[in-house]
Amino acid sequence: MAERKKVLVLGAGYAGLQTVSKLQKQLSEEDAHITLINKNDYHYESTWLHEASAGTLSYEDVLYPIDSVIKDHVEFVRAEVTKIDRNAKKVETTRGIFDFDILVVGLGFESETFGINGMKEHAFQIENVHTARKIARHIEDKFANYAASKTKDDNDLAILVGGAGFTGVEFLGELTDRIPELANKYGVDQSKVKITCVEAAPKMLPMFSDNLVNHAVSYLESRGVEFKVGTPIVAANEKGFVVKVNDEEQTLEANTVVWAAGVRGSQLMEKSFEGVKRGRIVTKQDLTIEGYDDIFVIGDCSAFIPEGEERPLPTTAQIAMQQGEHVAKNIQHILKGEPTENFTYVDRGTVASLGKHDGVGLVYGREITGKKAAFMKRVIDTRAIFKIGGLGLAYKKGKF
Ligand code: FAD
Ligand code: NAD
Repeated sequence: MAERKKVLVLGAGYAGLQTVSKLQKQLSEEDAHITLINKNDYHYESTWLHEASAGTLSYEDVLYPIDSVIKDHVEFVRAEVTKIDRNAKKVETTRGIFDFDILVVGLGFESETFGINGMKEHAFQIENVHTARKIARHIEDKFANYAASKTKDDNDLAILVGGAGFTGVEFLGELTDRIPELANKYGVDQSKVKITCVEAAPKMLPMFSDNLVNHAVSYLESRGVEFKVGTPIVAANEKGFVVKVNDEEQTLEANTVVWAAGVRGSQLMEKSFEGVKRGRIVTKQDLTIEGYDDIFVIGDCSAFIPEGEERPLPTTAQIAMQQGEHVAKNIQHILKGEPTENFTYVDRGTVASLGKHDGVGLVYGREITGKKAAFMKRVIDTRAIFKIGGLGLAYKKGKF
């Protein structure tokens, strides 16, 4: 009897978990030995981190145990991957070395500070459940401190957000939901709260039309957010952000400073592969990498350039999940000795929430705003949970 192939999946984010979720339904124990390695024993919904960071959702609501969605014939190992040796076909982890016949790398994203001075030390990053929890606690602590102190420091009620990409905008939306609750809880005059978003580009959310951007800006401004666009952040220090205005440096002060201005793939990518840029490696059309027909890289660690195009797809959960499903299919082809299939991304649209009651989006080519967009975002969030964990998980964690 031929030896069972070892399929090793690294990372239980959208990409890795979707791969395993599909594989475990289609392959039996006899077909392959499937191992999933992740540094935590839980999966977190990265797409909900802005909510956990603002405190509009508790950090526990953002995660669920990996065990609850994998079947018995999948081996789950809680460990941190420390090295991928692509030629020796071995992966080193904090819990030992694992060899593989087929590898799926889905190690996801990290915050990218572009080497900006002081950013790592002085600003929070929306990166994972721990950082999200810290941000939410810090914001509340500052309100409590303001309320309790005799010499009021107005900067306790000032929040700076770097970047008005999707993460920055969605976080601002949640903040505008959270602030009235905190002001009420700590007896703070809400008009004293100052939320400022600093964006380097002259226009935010360039992939959206002026109509959608204007809706997002006016909604957030009407709820107290001030935007400073065309204003690059050049440093961060203990006071706040240092920005450049007309070639002159200015310091914007706040006691809560959040950097939400970019992501990169896992640092491990540069250490493990060649030709990696900002943690992302260009994949072939079937999602394997050049020279390695048995190594798939998917999700935020990958840069997939659709045939005939020049730029890679953006890094989104929607793409990571579709890639996970596709890789599961290609692994079965490899196990049967069949040729792999090329990946085609089906773009169903993008929705950005502006808190719980508003949003903007482009869905199947149609623009939506307001409550409709907020509702659609909840549908998308619930669908992602359902696709990995089925009805039971959707019932527990879905946003109904
Ligand atoms: P991840 O979700 O980052 O998962 C990687 C997994 O690998 C994690 O479980 C991590 O713990 C684990 N891991 C990492 N390193 C190691 C290691 N060394 N050893 C072991 N395990 C490791 N996209 C959308 O499509 N729609 C949205 O609405 C949306 N909203 C977003 C909101 C926010 C606030 C953010 C930050 C991003 C959002 N995105 C959204 C983007 C989306 O979250 C990412 O594209 C998606 O998470 C990528 O999935 P992934 O599986 O590649 O990586
Ligand atoms: P991003 O790269 O999309 O946006 C970062 C923003 O920060 C940009 O507008 C950029 O101009 C700005 N910026 C960069 N450097 C700056 C500086 N020095 N000073 C001031 N501004 C600066 O990053 P993101 O918003 O974190 O999104 C990451 C990925 O996740 C994207 O692919 C995005 O599509 C995806 N995402 C999707 C959703 C959604 O679909 N609802 C939500 C969040 C994130």
